[in-house]
Amino acid sequence: MDLLDTLTAKGLRGETPTREEALAVLATTDDELLDVVAAAGRVRRRWFGRRVKLNYLVNLKSGLCPEDCSYCSQRLGSKAEILKYTWLKPGEAAEAAKAGVSGGAKRVCLVASGRGPTDRDIDRVTDTVAAIKDADPAVEVCACLGLLSDNQAERLKAAGVDAYNHNLNTSEGTYGDIATTHTYADRVDTVQKAHGAGLSACSGLIAGMGESDEDLVDVVFALRELGSDSVPVNFLIPFEGTPLAKEWNLTPQRCLRILAMVRFVNPDTEVRIAGGREVHLRTMQPLGLHLANSIFLGDYLTSEGQAGQADLDMIRDAGFEVEGMGEGTLPRHRADVAAGAADATGGCGTAPAAGACGTGGGCGPCGGHAHGSADDGAVAAGADDEARTDLVRVRRRGAGTELAPNA
Ligand code: SF4
Repeated sequence: MDLLDTLTAKGLRGETPTREEALAVLATTDDELLDVVAAAGRVRRRWFGRRVKLNYLVNLKSGLCPEDCSYCSQRLGSKAEILKYTWLKPGEAAEAAKAGVSGGAKRVCLVASGRGPTDRDIDRVTDTVAAIKDADPAVEVCACLGLLSDNQAERLKAAGVDAYNHNLNTSEGTYGDIATTHTYADRVDTVQKAHGAGLSACSGLIAGMGESDEDLVDVVFALRELGSDSVPVNFLIPFEGTPLAKEWNLTPQRCLRILAMVRFVNPDTEVRIAGGREVHLRTMQPLGLHLANSIFLGDYLTSEGQAGQADLDMIRDAGFEVEGMGEGTLPRHRADVAAGAADATGGCGTAPAAGACGTGGGCGPCGGHAHGSADDGAVAAGADDEARTDLVRVRRRGAGTELAPNA
């Protein structure tokens, strides 16, 4: 297939495909799917080998957000029966983080619901980062706290935060359909603030909100242009009690095509399968590892994932290996330009990870739902999945509860 030969050759050189080529990946048929996965898998192995980076979410503050992101179970007016609690104490957060690191995670993602942090919130996160790094100085910390004001990114950097997550989620053209209390430009501004302060930028998308193929390609190219070091790909978890609860637009095959497209556009960037992996890829999850080089271990912010041990078993059974704490994530040429990677070292084309966070929380894959209705003509090809509400489970363990976390 000429398209795949072209995309593979470009990816192996670290080059970005054209927009038309990216759209063509999304338009491939089920008969072509394994060829698409194999081609994008070659690109993945070129830059990331068979390593899988594990990330662990700690939801520092859950629910009660004043913003109206329609995909989010923590949004204003959400009827989703999620856990709701205010800021965890630094020791509680560090304890939760420890469980993930013990399970194999090299990155801890500290997430808080809300429009953005106050300066007092930055103090709280500073104390939490200190507690986590006191216990394990090598662990990477990513913060995901919403829109940043001036100087807050610099304060987080000084506190020892390695990366900042803030997802663009969807295209600029449709952003107004998924949230009205802030703009796409606000989100871009925060990613730029984080990057400008020397934090590794982590920014991704949510698929399955009723967007078109063009919207998906738009946001993925925008993320490439923004210089995101890590691209979390969320698959909408249609939470009951949110505006998008009835939108089930994804099949496992569609998810794999999306991941392949994201990989081709970001050949040498960390691509992470984020929220919705279990709900939408289901038994096809192992094929996703041939495309993405990073996943979350265990549970998400407000929903449960599969058991952490099942994640580890899947990685091993599929012939991949968990990336070690001392191993670099990004290829060296990417790490050298990534924020905070000035001290990059190491052979084999890699360098100490600048890392990137990722799923949801304050602004990632909370497991909500989003975007225009299914009758607006924007529903993508392959959008005929049955509702699997049985796979959507509200998180009832770990941070904010008395029960042991899933890690
Ligand atoms: S995505 Fe973030 S800002 Fe939007 S409603 Fe959810 S927690 Fe609030």
